[in-house]
Amino acid sequence: MPSTNAPSYPSGQFATREEEHIMDGSLTTPLHFPVATSPSAGETITIAPGVEWLRMPLPFALDHINLWLLEDGPGWTIVDAGYAMPETTAQWDRIFAGRLRGLPVTRIIVTHHHPDHIGLAGWLSERWQAPLWTTEKEWLFARLMSRGADDSRKLRRDFARRAGQDESASELFAEHHHGYRRGVPSVPPSFQRLAEGSVVEIGGREWRVITGEGHSPELACLYCAETSILISGDQVLPKISPNVSVQAHEPDSDPLSRFLRSLDRLRGAVPAETLVLPSHNLPFFGLHTRIGDLAAHHRARCAEIMAACARPQSATELLPVLFRRPLDRHQMAFALGEALAHLNYLTGLGALARLLDSDGVNRFTSASASL
Ligand SMILES: [Zn+2]
Repeated sequence: MPSTNAPSYPSGQFATREEEHIMDGSLTTPLHFPVATSPSAGETITIAPGVEWLRMPLPFALDHINLWLLEDGPGWTIVDAGYAMPETTAQWDRIFAGRLRGLPVTRIIVTHHHPDHIGLAGWLSERWQAPLWTTEKEWLFARLMSRGADDSRKLRRDFARRAGQDESASELFAEHHHGYRRGVPSVPPSFQRLAEGSVVEIGGREWRVITGEGHSPELACLYCAETSILISGDQVLPKISPNVSVQAHEPDSDPLSRFLRSLDRLRGAVPAETLVLPSHNLPFFGLHTRIGDLAAHHRARCAEIMAACARPQSATELLPVLFRRPLDRHQMAFALGEALAHLNYLTGLGALARLLDSDGVNRFTSASASL
């Protein structure tokens, strides 16, 4: 069958993490998409009894996010809030006036702290006097990034320099993170904690929390065995590979190891025949197949890096190997983080060695070549 992994994104601004992991269309996943069309603006589609699917716009090339409404006794639980912008609040107003049938929102569950997911959580929480439920790390990250002075500019500039970016590109990289507060104007000052293994009763059904790492520090997936549904957030997406990035505040981290381990745990915890509700693209069947494809994708990237690192390479020098099209500066920031995720992973395995060159740039070479 033709590849389902080759989305053709419109040109334009890139800013969310998922789209920055540019797919090369080489994967052919035989996924099954039971609903061919997505809900139109301000409308919902019933996925299962008590489970409604809605879409909100994003101001990026990846132009949408899927959100979920779960019927919850005398009210509704919302899963993920959408990016803060007038179009999204207008669509929420239409949903409130229509689909909620006059019932209130009683709880806001957020899978992780990225702006398209937690963006309007503060607005929703204020409007409905409803609590935010999320994991501790995601709440802390969101609170940290949406408030306070930014004292990490030099850190980010030095991070980009060590990765091989020139002076002016490193300056641009240092500015890159300022967009968070635009999409996340407020984060509720308190929260109800979700954690691995938590069971949340929603509308008389049990939803179990399975946390994932690597894309985000403690992303909450929700699994309902009774209806055989998994709300996967960005941990597993059907057509694009979730961005896995090293970030300046933890330059030696190994998020790819954590991401791959999380996928393994998810495969062990959730049966193959489960309907997956992802944050982007369409609901699908084929969870275990998709997990296998994502792992294979990263293995292929690692093989390409190993071949290139027969000679010493910086993260910047590897970008043309990993991303075969020109990158604008927004894409560059994510691509650099993604390249470093693979480099740190291979270094942790002992396959690569890292050396700080005399020009202040970290270069990686195959461990056998460096002996
Ligand atoms: Zn995300």
